[in-house]
Amino acid sequence: MNSVTELPLRDTRKQAFEANKLSKKLHRQVGQAIADFNMVEAGDKIMVCLSGGKDSYALLDILLSLRERAPVDFELVAVNLDQKQPGFPADVLPRYLRERGVPFHIEDQDTYSIVKKLVPEGQTMCSLCSRLRRGILYRVASELGATKIALGHHRDDMVVTLLMNMFFGGRMKGMPPKLASDDGRHVVIRPLAYVAETDLERWAEHRQFPIIPCTLCGSQDDLQRVQIRAMLRDWERQYPGRSDNMLRAMGHVVPSHLMDGKLHPFRTLKATGIADPAGDKAFDADDDGCATPAAAAVPIRLDLG
Ligand code: SF4
Repeated sequence: MNSVTELPLRDTRKQAFEANKLSKKLHRQVGQAIADFNMVEAGDKIMVCLSGGKDSYALLDILLSLRERAPVDFELVAVNLDQKQPGFPADVLPRYLRERGVPFHIEDQDTYSIVKKLVPEGQTMCSLCSRLRRGILYRVASELGATKIALGHHRDDMVVTLLMNMFFGGRMKGMPPKLASDDGRHVVIRPLAYVAETDLERWAEHRQFPIIPCTLCGSQDDLQRVQIRAMLRDWERQYPGRSDNMLRAMGHVVPSHLMDGKLHPFRTLKATGIADPAGDKAFDADDDGCATPAAAAVPIRLDLG
């Protein structure tokens, strides 16, 4: 009898232990990213863009609890853009936000009809849709007096974007954790920059966020992006730590060992006559760029100095 009743209790304890561990990890990673990139300053009013997906729910959730113990005062306001996709459950986010006591604004803009009209049948609508959404969110940020715009992109989004740009765009360009918006009027932050997508999936399940599916518009995500995401997940399964290493690489760029003449004066380079112990090991086969499993286990800490 005892063993039957004790088993579920043990399961519950294990789940609570795992959830607590995950919570600590997520809060530590978000807090670290905020500190490393000075994402939040005293008096900030941060507009958190909430789509109804797991990432933006987690972003808001973690920022809310970090704010309670933050050394500086800042405000959070959640904003959802209702793009009028057929079947969008417009009541879900307002109900959730009221229950959590979060100030919010729902912006109604029928970008769905515009995109449908302009994009030929069968082509992906995401690029135009995102552009329209971005413009609207920047305007709303100004109207709300927001000093920062927080987006729910995570580590995997950042690494996938870097690979996409390398594979298909011929550029070493990723997705930054902090940037000035293209209209020059806002600072955009990505506090989930260090967080793995799988951890966000687990957190969303634990917190039971009322997820709104992102397939309502009927558009497919870019096929190349889908493939790179799958490739990254496969790599991560085979070689745990590889995604973290790639993210770390984005913060440890060595222009003298790449090929961009705008970042390093290759054309005018001369021998200095002075040995540099940290300099090039041009003929070393075993360069320290090869990440070992031990290196992969080192926690993410970008050198921003
Ligand atoms: S999936 Fe639909 S709503 Fe999302 S960006 Fe693409 S077109 Fe827009």
